[in-house]
Amino acid sequence: EKTFSILDLMKTYPLLIDGELVVTATTDAVFDPATEQVVGHASRADAALIDRAVSAALRAFPAWSADTALRQRTLRAAAVVLREHASEISRLITLEQGRPLKNTAAEPLNAAATLEQFADYAPEAAAPFEEGGKQIRIIRKPFGVVAAITPWNVPVGILFTKITPALRAGNTVVAKPSEHTPLSTLRIAELLRDVFPPGVLNIVAGAGEVGAAIARDPRVGKITFTGSVATGRRIFETAARDIKRLTLELGGNDAAIVLDDVDPETVAEKLFWVAFRNSGQVCFAVKRLFVQRGVFDAIVDALARRAERTRVGNGLEADTELGPLTSRTQYERVAELVDDARAHGARIHSGGAPLEGPGWFYPPTIVSGIGPGSRLVDEEQFGPALPVIPFDDVEEAIALANATPFGLGASIWTGNVERALPLIEQLDAGMVWINRHAEGSKQAPKGGHKSSGLGVEGGGAWGYEHYVQVQVVSVAAP
Ligand code: ADP
Repeated sequence: EKTFSILDLMKTYPLLIDGELVVTATTDAVFDPATEQVVGHASRADAALIDRAVSAALRAFPAWSADTALRQRTLRAAAVVLREHASEISRLITLEQGRPLKNTAAEPLNAAATLEQFADYAPEAAAPFEEGGKQIRIIRKPFGVVAAITPWNVPVGILFTKITPALRAGNTVVAKPSEHTPLSTLRIAELLRDVFPPGVLNIVAGAGEVGAAIARDPRVGKITFTGSVATGRRIFETAARDIKRLTLELGGNDAAIVLDDVDPETVAEKLFWVAFRNSGQVCFAVKRLFVQRGVFDAIVDALARRAERTRVGNGLEADTELGPLTSRTQYERVAELVDDARAHGARIHSGGAPLEGPGWFYPPTIVSGIGPGSRLVDEEQFGPALPVIPFDDVEEAIALANATPFGLGASIWTGNVERALPLIEQLDAGMVWINRHAEGSKQAPKGGHKSSGLGVEGGGAWGYEHYVQVQVVSVAAP
């Protein structure tokens, strides 16, 4: 197993274009958010390289889409490579993204499992039928070139959630990781270079303008994107010109509603993790906590105690529970939202100020005394600051939970599941849970309602169908 050396820290990671590893003259430095030190350099694609990547993907499409067995074999081979290099990749994710090694350990393994799941997946063929003397068949066709644009919070997991069903369905891919966390994806590009036929999987890097250039390219048939609502909206507008197909997984402002029949200590421990895992940088994190009056003080107190004893630190250290925020922008944004809450009379029960540097560390922060109308409640904080809001009547809490343009996830926490069952479907979100939050299922899709997204991902057939279009073949006798 490879360990990191000073050479890795100085390395310029190449792009993968048409089966070739391309190191560019212009590069982007990538920082370890725990130390603010440079941990590597990412090659940066320009217009000519983006054109080469899309051209290669287009050229590779006919042969790739024609050979199902090759696709299945290749996805399995890619899974083997990810498993072999899992701890190296996990370490690289921790280094550039910040969250603890014990949380990134599963990321390459989950990506491998996704590859295996879709390698084995066989879409159910529609039976041919006859109508008015004509033979009719309904078949699925890939789009051609799929662009995958990914964010920085779960760089490898999200990449494979997107490219695996795309590739399995016969599309070829041009992928672009976030400029904050490109190294794990570019390292995977190196590792997979000989696994994929040239041009089938192309990986370029750079900031937003590189993503925009790929999204604009008329030869791209479909864009799959995870990131902010603002960027998703821009991609939607770009896609409108060619009526490109879209999968968008955007932000959330998930509510958790806690009823007064829970055991506060037990529930607070679970709530803590569904709000603060990955330092809150999770689309499906709990971002607004509504607590029924009878247990409000007990829950706030238990959360604050849990927050105060959290070990915040460098994710490479074994006992770290929460790492830093991934970027300075994100770190400053969380500080700004908490300061805004404080200025509007909020009570801060834990945390509330950045930790001494270096590193973009912000401690888990429990906030009360604010409600809708406050930025920390209305906006997606995407960081370790949780507003806790009391309510009396559960219908009122459901109305508050739904009063947002977002609709990603939502949950109800109760000692009596029967009580929550008639309520849960009133929550307008793509995933709703009772007594849990942010947990997916291999066989179920995930995706958002309202401004939180378009389409769904994962979940075998559910996700797969977003990477194919329908073609109806109708044959009449001569
Ligand atoms: P954040 O603001 O949290 O960094 P973004 O939604 O901007 O999130 O970023 C998610 C991904 O989208 C990144 O890979 C980023 O480079 C890319 N991106 C940013 N702006 C654009 C754009 N206009 N078109 C396409 N991709 C973009």
